[in-house]
Amino acid sequence: MNLTVVSVYPTLLGTYGDGGNVMALRHRARLHGIEVDVINIEPGDAVPESAELYVLGGGEDSAQTAAANALRADGSLKRAAERGAAVLAVCAGYQLLGEYFPDANSAATPGLGILDIRTDRLPKRAVGELAADPKEPLTQTLTGYENHAGATHLGPNASALATVRAGIGNGDGSEGATTAHVIGTYLHGPCLARNPQLADLLLGWAIGRDLPFIEEAEVTQLREERLRTVLG
Ligand code: GLN
Repeated sequence: MNLTVVSVYPTLLGTYGDGGNVMALRHRARLHGIEVDVINIEPGDAVPESAELYVLGGGEDSAQTAAANALRADGSLKRAAERGAAVLAVCAGYQLLGEYFPDANSAATPGLGILDIRTDRLPKRAVGELAADPKEPLTQTLTGYENHAGATHLGPNASALATVRAGIGNGDGSEGATTAHVIGTYLHGPCLARNPQLADLLLGWAIGRDLPFIEEAEVTQLREERLRTVLG
């Protein structure tokens, strides 16, 4: 079967290798016998509304504001999320799914209102490894690294993705946010290469059935090395 993945504004939202998330999705999908068609969408292109999975990465403050303004004007990503499409959004992409986030001058800037989150500034920029224990149905400790100045506050209609074990995450001991089939996270890595269970969860949502976890020894080894570095 084929699955359409939309990479949303990869030139604006693709810092720290987050473009690798699309490659990781393609790889994990193949393990499960699914072929992925990737559509790269840049500002000015209409965002397709009927795809099964949307991926947004991190970005600098000004790129983040430009991306949020273009996506608000387009409207398709919000409609796709509301009909149950799967969305993964990292860092700047995560923040702009919320109600507001700080722009380059720290002014509150409207987001898309897809996630019930609000972002303002941390007292000190968060830079370094991030490890967090996820909520069900995920069971494997999430590993990645973070580099952001935003503190993200969850409202009642969003659930934390995980509880921080090392690093900062949202800034209050929680990491990321999820509602329906939408996941926002501060994890770079790229996070789907370092957390294949998260990739499989998104793919399962996109195709409408749970996927059995397929272990790959080299990924398990990479995860163990990274987690040992931060957790001892
Ligand atoms: N500009 C945002 C912040 O600093 C997001 C940064 C990022 O995507 N790495 O909080």
